[in-house]
Amino acid sequence: MFYLHQRLDPEFEELLQRALAGDRLTRADGERLISATATELSALMLAASAVRDQGKGRIVTYSKNVFIPLTNLCRQKCGYCTFAKGPSDPAALTMSPDDVLAIAEAGRRRGCKEALFSLGEKPEEVYDFVRDDLRHFGHETTISYLREMCALVQNETGLLPHANPGIMTADEVAALRECNVTMGLMLETTSERLHEKGSAHFNCPGKIPELRLDTMRFCGEQGIAFTTGILIGIGETWAERVDSLFAIHELHQETGNVQEVIVQNFRVKEDIIMRHEDEPSVYEMLRTIATARLILGPSMNIQAPPNLTPDAYGIYLMAGINDWGGVSPTTVDHISPEAPWPKIEELRAVTEEAGFELRERLAIYPEFAKKDRFVRDTARPAIERWTDETGLVPTEEYET
Ligand code: SF4
Repeated sequence: MFYLHQRLDPEFEELLQRALAGDRLTRADGERLISATATELSALMLAASAVRDQGKGRIVTYSKNVFIPLTNLCRQKCGYCTFAKGPSDPAALTMSPDDVLAIAEAGRRRGCKEALFSLGEKPEEVYDFVRDDLRHFGHETTISYLREMCALVQNETGLLPHANPGIMTADEVAALRECNVTMGLMLETTSERLHEKGSAHFNCPGKIPELRLDTMRFCGEQGIAFTTGILIGIGETWAERVDSLFAIHELHQETGNVQEVIVQNFRVKEDIIMRHEDEPSVYEMLRTIATARLILGPSMNIQAPPNLTPDAYGIYLMAGINDWGGVSPTTVDHISPEAPWPKIEELRAVTEEAGFELRERLAIYPEFAKKDRFVRDTARPAIERWTDETGLVPTEEYET
């Protein structure tokens, strides 16, 4: 039984009790949870933490990775993006195989185990010079080049590739399957309103929610553990946030391959279209994370990026997260380059202060690495070499 030493709206308390008991929640329940008042927030967070503890105990994980921005050109124009460069920007670049290998090798030497390939979506569809670059590297498409680079990194360095190339067809997923231990695509939001002129996803054909859910479904059908999440503060309503969480939950019930859900906060940057918009507050993040935990349940891995709330990220542990995501000792967060990763030592201190143990994990979570359906022969030796009986990286590796 869950007792609270505060006076709550009886209906809200009964809803928390139902969530704690594992009852199926409705969208209306989710909207009530996420609209918790400031005085209801502590009860919401306590309930979310209790549900997290049921499934994850007191272990909080992170993945030591290198970030490989294979191309920073993109066919889309998201209003919050600082990663994608225009064609005349001197920083616009599709990396060569040598550059890719150099980053991966530097990461391997620092103990990284994940090669996170994050890149713009299908830039060759809009830029002739990208097609020329790809031909120079022997490819017609970014996905085909990505496949070769993932295999190169895996074969030459042993790092486990985790590609995020945007929406994909089933054939494109199949092409990447053998050389990726996991793949990722943020759902971001189910809101179609954000495709209207002046909104965050105007001119972004790959951000149509159904297409993103299709990509996740293809990965599920092909036995690929998948990372997704929501991006909050880009113009969506609270109800749309809840709808996005339910869309992920329902997809996972169908496919069983969603290994983690990220709750990411929009950050203002000087060079983005949305530079005059407000960022979501920590209070908004807490309500959203706690609601995500109660909708997604005890077994889901829920992550919030520590570098996007540098002053206060420890409090997200009190709202039900159990993972900090990728943290790199060698490369910046190219999506938010102004936001440095915390050092592992700092992350450990913050995590332990809150009463948790910090453990390194691989790009594929232990519960997925145990299932043959999600593990390719190409990845199995590295998974076995780098993990102990818990499926996590042994703690003596911790300091590397
Ligand atoms: S957020 Fe991703 S899809 Fe959108 S413009 Fe940037 S790189 Fe492209």
